[in-house]
Amino acid sequence: MRTKEQYFQGLSKLKRNLYCDGELIDRLDEKQQDCLNTIGTTFDESLKPENQEGLTAISHLTGERISRFTHIHQNTDDLHKKQDMTRLLCGKVGGCIQRCMGIDATNSIYNVSYEADKQNNGATQYHENFKKWLTRFQTEDLVGCCAQTDVKGDRLARPADQENKEAYLRILEKRSDGIVVSGCKLHISEASVADEVLVVPTRALRPEDKDYAVSFAVPADWDGMKQVVTVRNFRKRDNFPRGFSQGATDSYLIFDKCFVPWERVFLAGEWQQGGTMALLFALFHRHSYSGCKPGLGDILLGTAALAAEVNNIHKASHIREKLAEIIMVTELGYAAGYTASSMGKPEVYMPGVGFIPYGPGSYIPHSIYCNVGRCLTGEAVFREAEILCDISGGIPATFPHEKDFANPDIKDLLLKYTKRNPKMPAEDQAQFWRYMGDVLCSAAGGVQRMGAYHGGGSPIMEQIAITTQYDIESRKKLVKHIAGMSGGDREALSQPPKK
Ligand SMILES: Cc1cc2nc3c(=O)[nH]c(=O)nc-3n(C[C@H](O)[C@H](O)[C@H](O)COP(=O)(O)OP(=O)(O)OC[C@H]3O[C@@H](n4cnc5c(N)ncnc54)[C@H](O)[C@@H]3O)c2cc1C
Repeated sequence: MRTKEQYFQGLSKLKRNLYCDGELIDRLDEKQQDCLNTIGTTFDESLKPENQEGLTAISHLTGERISRFTHIHQNTDDLHKKQDMTRLLCGKVGGCIQRCMGIDATNSIYNVSYEADKQNNGATQYHENFKKWLTRFQTEDLVGCCAQTDVKGDRLARPADQENKEAYLRILEKRSDGIVVSGCKLHISEASVADEVLVVPTRALRPEDKDYAVSFAVPADWDGMKQVVTVRNFRKRDNFPRGFSQGATDSYLIFDKCFVPWERVFLAGEWQQGGTMALLFALFHRHSYSGCKPGLGDILLGTAALAAEVNNIHKASHIREKLAEIIMVTELGYAAGYTASSMGKPEVYMPGVGFIPYGPGSYIPHSIYCNVGRCLTGEAVFREAEILCDISGGIPATFPHEKDFANPDIKDLLLKYTKRNPKMPAEDQAQFWRYMGDVLCSAAGGVQRMGAYHGGGSPIMEQIAITTQYDIESRKKLVKHIAGMSGGDREALSQPPKK
């Protein structure tokens, strides 16, 4: 397993293909430093003996100890540990840990590549290719991002029906040595600090969409791929440093007639499996959310409770209600993920069929619990910001810039007029409001909320998954019986429902 420094060294060798705010930048550019330190934390923490159990695993391919971020879930315990690892690490950096995309994409591709080969009666070697790629990914302890979301053009048109034929990434050509693809994946988190980019389809596909059923992995500086990066750092501090500066980046990944050799291709035209891969990545990612959202909930709760304390209103009854609300969302999200882990199996839900065995035996979290947890807690993001806004009052919005607190002319006056709770040092109170400004009033804070709402799929996507997979009919039959209507069935739920 690598150290943080080795991770940085690896990135420093990649070719320049990052376009950012009018410049072509290096991986280790100052702008990316907060993001690098955030992902770097996963390396530092994995090497600590006390974290070995939770943050590392034994590879089922090599028998070697590897980072859990590169592991394929072998049992329900692995699913539990991924959830707990994610929560723990989000707490360490005070926000999104960003390395979950790789583990979620690899677990999805691992299963789907196996089924695609089965469907092709051995005519393809996607799964063996993927295992070779995965062995290197694990052994070299690489960071992967997942490029799923396409630009999608006209929202009402399916891929093959789009006016812009590359509104979804597609295969332009199949050659004897590989495929050529064009298209653009957008909002791709951590792509600019990743070693490898994993590409999966966005949505369910029809036979005529087969050119859009494509999955592969390429190094993040691959020829024919450009990255246009947006960086979300908090405002630079000169005088009053933070304990940790969490940072993140997101990229538009533009593939322009990009060649990918067959050994890096894991799906190329199998439209049925393309749709399943889209669903499975989303499912694994929604399961990760049941770790990160509680981790962010821990931070949020501390922030709300401290805001109340700085304002000296922490004993007021309305504060108790608001803190309870944050705890309920946090722990319900965790509980949903915990149940999804406990009920995990090597099975997927096929609409109209129910759960069926799927893949070579690795574990997939339970779909209903992943989706209800992600939907309920994702939708709470803006309500949680409202709670912070309410408890704070207006102070974070107009809090003076930090250099004014260092200016001898006004520093003491500012401390005098920003101090609220008489039992807390004025300097700590000022530092707290600077932090609250980061969370609530900064551009980076706004992007984080958008990501927490839409990342892993907008709430409507989870609602579609829940309602198409849940056995609503048996509930109707039960109620028909209770209401005394025809067609009722008192035993409709005597068997465990199909959900
Ligand atoms: C900060 C951030 C980080 C992200 N990181 C990643 C990442 O690392 N990798 C990745 O692959 N993706 C990533 N995403 C993308 C995320 O998964 C998507 O934003 C999400 O799936 C929603 O897609 P969209 O943005 O295209 O919105 P849309 O799908 O366009 O949704 C906009 C609205 O249109 C509605 N809508 C869409 N289609 C239809 C239709 N056919 N009929 C009716 N209504 C419709 C939706 O319900 C919604 O109300 C990230 C997003 C953000 C904001």
